[in-house]
Amino acid sequence: MVDNIKASQCLLCLARGRRHCLCPDCLRDLPWLGRACTGCALPLPETAADHRAGHDNDEDRCQDCRLNAPPWQSVSALFRYEFPVDRLISAFKYHGRLALADAFGSLLADQLPPSWRPDLLLPVPLHEHRLRQRGYHQTALLAGVMARRLGSASDWRGLRRLRDTAMQKTLDPQARLANLSEAFAWQGGTLAGRHVMLVDDVMTTGATLRTLTLPLLAAGAASVRIAVIARTLPP
Ligand SMILES: [Zn+2]
Ligand SMILES: [Zn+2]
Repeated sequence: MVDNIKASQCLLCLARGRRHCLCPDCLRDLPWLGRACTGCALPLPETAADHRAGHDNDEDRCQDCRLNAPPWQSVSALFRYEFPVDRLISAFKYHGRLALADAFGSLLADQLPPSWRPDLLLPVPLHEHRLRQRGYHQTALLAGVMARRLGSASDWRGLRRLRDTAMQKTLDPQARLANLSEAFAWQGGTLAGRHVMLVDDVMTTGATLRTLTLPLLAAGAASVRIAVIARTLPP
């Protein structure tokens, strides 16, 4: 991805005169996730059943999620976190390719079954010093695009990141959870009866999303769902 790319070019093949930043051919060739567990977004075998029907039932859950249900109602993910989606997400997060907010946000919104549509979209918060460094909040942009498309509200200030959790990768799972506990707080008032959706770029273990879901449920959210651009698959 070169730096002086024009707004009317496809980010992947540089085809010109495009209205969107990804041309239809490149979009089709991306590593789409396909049928996946509604609890953890790991792939499930394809079946004849329509996996976009939006049922919250056991058939759409993997063995692990049936035994040990996550605190959220569902996860929607567009892609496997693989080339070139990994590059696109890093271009979006770190290199100011903000047109990707429109592309990914519209795709995520359009993929949601009607019964999963939230009242309120909440981006996973950035720590304030990262926001200052980067100058933009990529998941807030994504949530904003989704909100406009779905006719929902979005709020990027209610969830607060109390500590920087950037060092997560160096910790074992137990230490990760300890490090994350109380790293987030909901400060946006009651969520009583509201259907909430957390928006993030990549879901890896789900530990961060789990820690974010609990304060929302404690604030009265009727349901919490997750939407992410991509899901990391185990090796
Ligand atoms: Zn292209
Ligand atoms: Zn699962």
